[in-house]
Amino acid sequence: MAEKVKPISEKRLIPLEKYIGTILGLAAGDALGYPVEFLSIDQIKERGGSEFIYLSSDFSNHSSNHPKGTYSDDTQMSIALANALLKSKTARVDEVMYHIGREFIKWYDSPENDRAPGTNCMAGVRNLRRGCDWKDSGVDNAKSCGAAMRTAPIGLAFYNDLGKLKEIAAASAISTHNSKSAEASAIANAYLVARGIRNENPQESLNDLEKFTEGISNSFSYKLRELEGTLNLEPREAFKIIGAGWRGDEAVAGALYCVLKTDFDYREAVVMAADNAGDSDSVASIAGGIIGSHIGFKEIPRLFLRDLENRDNLYKLAVSLYDRFKK
Ligand SMILES: [Mg+2]
Repeated sequence: MAEKVKPISEKRLIPLEKYIGTILGLAAGDALGYPVEFLSIDQIKERGGSEFIYLSSDFSNHSSNHPKGTYSDDTQMSIALANALLKSKTARVDEVMYHIGREFIKWYDSPENDRAPGTNCMAGVRNLRRGCDWKDSGVDNAKSCGAAMRTAPIGLAFYNDLGKLKEIAAASAISTHNSKSAEASAIANAYLVARGIRNENPQESLNDLEKFTEGISNSFSYKLRELEGTLNLEPREAFKIIGAGWRGDEAVAGALYCVLKTDFDYREAVVMAADNAGDSDSVASIAGGIIGSHIGFKEIPRLFLRDLENRDNLYKLAVSLYDRFKK
């Protein structure tokens, strides 16, 4: 007798839209925040806010001379990580880290690496480039957000094996940022994206994240508890407590604040993230990737994607990740 065809719900199909939503979502959030990185809240407001700046016809980027829609190092490093995951034939940590090292070095040497890259990322990759093992290349005690802002692709690759997700995200962090806080932050971004692909309840994000990262880093866990206390505050007050996003724990907590505060509304969340002092592009990029993993790319406003640099290739990259890692 022929086997009965399983209903779609039992096949656990992963919608391609969510993979595309994650990659385009993080890149568009980054492109929105990049022109206002390093500006204070009042300076951003004086110029009409990040969304106005991004969409206006006389666009200018405060941080660089790049045109509208240009993303920063956050998306570049996320692409490097995605390419490494695609090139790795197995999920063995040493093989994956070999490819991550190679892709990071390619990024380091690229003429397009002119988008305010983080000093710890650069120093770590410089060490990889001169032959250092990934376990030793990271800058000691580095806690900046460079390790966290690039791990969304790890969530797409290992959404179905959270132990592996943790192992690879931690290793990817250590290669440039040798601290438990950076490890926890890198794991957190990958995990929050994986939750979207896994169709987990968005409202449980913070609780689940606290459990998933428990015991890795006291300061990271403390930051999540601080975040809990800010959810009934307005952004300006909340970010005073959470921090400006330069550190990995601050960037993840700030992004999750925006995501939860706006109830996973893409536009509201990335604008809230970008409109803040500090690392606007990283916080908006992390928030955009997390929301994209839950809602898919069709829910991202077209206006945010219209001028996005390299959009068609980002789309193709997401399709490749889906083809390779869907279960
Ligand atoms: Mg950046």
